[in-house]
Amino acid sequence: MRAEILTVGAELLAGDTLDTNFPFAARRFAELGIEVIRHQSLPDREEAIAEAVRGALERADVVLVTGGLGPTPDDRTREGVAQALGLKRILYEELRPALEARFAAYGKGRMPKENLTQITLPEGSMPLPNPAGTAPGFRLERDGAVLFVLPGVPREMQALLEEAVVPWLRSHRPVRARPTRVLRTQGIGESQILERFGEAFRGLEGVEVGFYPKQPGVDIKLVADDADPAAAGKRLDEAERRLCAALGEFVYGTGSVSLAEVVGRLLLERGARIAVAESCTGGALAAELLSVPGASRYVECAVVAYSNRAKSEWLGVPAEQIERHGAVSEEVARAMAGGVRDRAGVEVAVSTTGIAGPSGGTAEKPVGLVYSAVAVGERVRVYRSRHPGSREAVVRRAVMTDLNRLRLALREEAGGKEA
Ligand code: AMP
Ligand code: MG
Repeated sequence: MRAEILTVGAELLAGDTLDTNFPFAARRFAELGIEVIRHQSLPDREEAIAEAVRGALERADVVLVTGGLGPTPDDRTREGVAQALGLKRILYEELRPALEARFAAYGKGRMPKENLTQITLPEGSMPLPNPAGTAPGFRLERDGAVLFVLPGVPREMQALLEEAVVPWLRSHRPVRARPTRVLRTQGIGESQILERFGEAFRGLEGVEVGFYPKQPGVDIKLVADDADPAAAGKRLDEAERRLCAALGEFVYGTGSVSLAEVVGRLLLERGARIAVAESCTGGALAAELLSVPGASRYVECAVVAYSNRAKSEWLGVPAEQIERHGAVSEEVARAMAGGVRDRAGVEVAVSTTGIAGPSGGTAEKPVGLVYSAVAVGERVRVYRSRHPGSREAVVRRAVMTDLNRLRLALREEAGGKEA
C-alpha cells in the first residue's frame, strides 16, 4: 500500500514552523507497512490544495492531509479538498452540539457563527471527532483510495491518527510491518561506511539498506523483505552481524539508543562516576549526558569554565600554561580533565575547549578547532578535532565526538569488550 502526505500551512513554507506532523505520520505508516511515496507542504491556498489532493489520489492508496482546519478564513483545506473532488460543502448539524460544548468548555462564552465553518465538510465525508480540539477531521473515499484530513495542531493530529486513521487502515487493508533494525554509528562517514559495506553484504539478499546521516553520526536502517517474522529476524541478525564485523567499534548501538545512554551504561559497568569540564560547548556536553534518566547514578558534576580565570581557579589549570599555549590547546584540555577529576574526586572526567566561532579564529587556531581530553584514572587521552559549520553545529559535533571518545576510551579500559 502506498501513501502520500500533504501538510498544509503557510507557516511551514515560511520556515517559521517545523513540520513535525509529516515525520510523525510517516513513521506510523512505516510501522504499518505502508510505503510513503511522496510528501508535500502546501500554502493555505484552495487551488494549490485541490491540485495536490487530486494528484495524490491518482498515485496513492492512502492520502493524509494535515492542517488548515481552523475557523479563520485563512484555513482553506476543507474548501481545497471539496474542490479537488467536485463536492459541495454542507453543514454537519450533528456535529454542532460537540463543537458548542467544546467551545463552552474553553470558557469562551457563546460560539461565533464563523466556527460553524469547522463542521461544514465536503458532502459525503465521514467526520472524525477531535478528542483534543474543536476542528473535526474527516475521511473520504474515492475510486478505491482513501483520504484522511486531520487538524494541524500536532497533539490533535496525533490523537486522531491513533484513534481514527490507524484503526481504519488496520481493519480495511491487509497491512504488515516490514521488520526493520537500525544500527547507530559515530565517527565514520557515509562514504567510509560504503567502502566497508559492499564486502559485508556480498551474498546477503532480501535486506534493503538505508543510510541516515544524523549530523554527526550515521544510522543504518535494515529492512527485511520476508513476510514471515522468524525468517526476517534471522536475515536481520545475519545482516547486523556482518555490518558490526565490518564497522567494528563505530557501531555504538541499535534501535533508538543514544550515545549518552551507551556511555552511561559503560560508566555503570565500571562503577565509575564522571565529572565534566567544558568551555566552548557551554554545558551542552553535560546536558547530553544528563538527558538520560538515572544519570545521577554516574554523573558527579559539570563545570562550565569559560574564562581563563575560571579555568585556573575552578579547575586548577596553571595560569602560565594558558599563557604559554592558549586556552584552546592540548595542554589546557589535559589540565581541565585532570583538574575536574581531582576536584570532584571521581575516576572519569571529560573536558573540551575550542573555538565555536563565528569569530575568534586565527590561521593557527581556526574556528571549529576543539581540543578535548578523557581521563580514566591517571590516564588522560587528548584529542584534537576540527569541526565544520556554524557555532551551533560546532558545539553539536564537539559534544557527540567527545561522547564517542569517552565511549571508546571506556571500552578500551574495560578490555575492548563490546559496548
Ligand atoms: P491549522 O490546523 O492549520 O490551523 O494549524 C494549527 C497550528 O498547528 C498551526 O499554527 C501550527 O503551529 C501547527 N501546525 C500545523 N501544521 C503543522 C505541521 N505540519 N507540523 C507542526 N505543526 C503544525
Ligand atoms: Mg493553518
